[in-house]
Amino acid sequence: MIPLIDTFNRTHKDLRVSLTDRCSLRCTYCMPRDFDAWLPNEELLTTDELITIIDIATRHGIDQVRLTGGEPLLRPDIVSIVSRINQLEFAPELSLTTNGLALSKLSAPLREAGLVRVNVSLDTLNRGRFAEMTFRDRFDDVIAGLEAARKAGLSPIKINAVLMDGVNDDEAVELLTWALAEGYQLRFIEQMPLDAGGTWTRTAMVSSEEIYADLTQQYSLTPVPSRGSAPAEEFFVNGGPHKVGIIASVSKPFCGACDRLRLTSDGQLRSCLFSQEEMDLRKVLRDPNRSTEEKNQEISARLLKTVQGKLAGHGINDPSFVQPNRPMSAIGG
Ligand code: SAM
Ligand code: SF4
Repeated sequence: MIPLIDTFNRTHKDLRVSLTDRCSLRCTYCMPRDFDAWLPNEELLTTDELITIIDIATRHGIDQVRLTGGEPLLRPDIVSIVSRINQLEFAPELSLTTNGLALSKLSAPLREAGLVRVNVSLDTLNRGRFAEMTFRDRFDDVIAGLEAARKAGLSPIKINAVLMDGVNDDEAVELLTWALAEGYQLRFIEQMPLDAGGTWTRTAMVSSEEIYADLTQQYSLTPVPSRGSAPAEEFFVNGGPHKVGIIASVSKPFCGACDRLRLTSDGQLRSCLFSQEEMDLRKVLRDPNRSTEEKNQEISARLLKTVQGKLAGHGINDPSFVQPNRPMSAIGG
């Protein structure tokens, strides 16, 4: 099948799949606290629909799939989804990004279903702050989930942390010291304008430069060569082998090397987190007037069309930038 190459010669190999828009936390940078515009269940892709799309995408050269959300572990059949993706003819490298709350319960079954690695989001080591940042007092559950992930043999375990001005921006060094001691790979992510409440401001964003400056007060960081299409700029800590990453989506966009597509939980394909346009795949799969073969052909055509229409960059830094009208939790990070 035709590879997913766009007009800027970028070959798309990575598909981020949101399994649900719902979440067990309310991280302030991701979702408004009182958000209640949840997608009705019947609008979410069924597991069969999801697997069909992922299967077709892998035939077009997608070789990495990341399950995300909302909170992907809220999807009741998450273990079966993992297992079915691993059984595809062109099984992709599979990863999952989670807030960790359900890892105590699910790490072992997920590992058995073939999941190898996991990314867990944790922005603070302070229980009170965690509750303030997420509106849920669940810090201990994340730590227990991380322990369970380690015990189940999930590796590597990466930690995603977003720093916010005046909230947790004093924790960069502390988070790295903790991650090094626990054997987790830490990555800081610059806060992006995706909160759907429109509260993001460039001045309040803790930049990659500030994070780097903080970390180098305590640690020596040397760039890891060959970043490829990875969003994180990686550094060896004190000469290695441990690494830390900084994802500077806003201050140093890496759109030129982007190889990612995104599928929302309601079956909309996006070429970028910040796209203003979506391609409806669910409608194709639910069209009673098409045969299975016709549906599959149309999904292929829409994958190619979405890639063809991909813009050069996300445009966050353009004066004309408009925030997408869905929060990060609904698009899938
Ligand atoms: N609920 C899961 C979690 O928190 O890991 C998966 C979905 S979440 C949307 C995926 C990642 O996006 C998390 O690491 C989160 O910190 C990050 N994220 C959410 N909103 C963001 C924003 N406005 N800017 C930067 N990263 C954000
Ligand atoms: Fe939920 Fe993840 Fe968004 Fe936090 S970052 S509100 S855990 S989807």
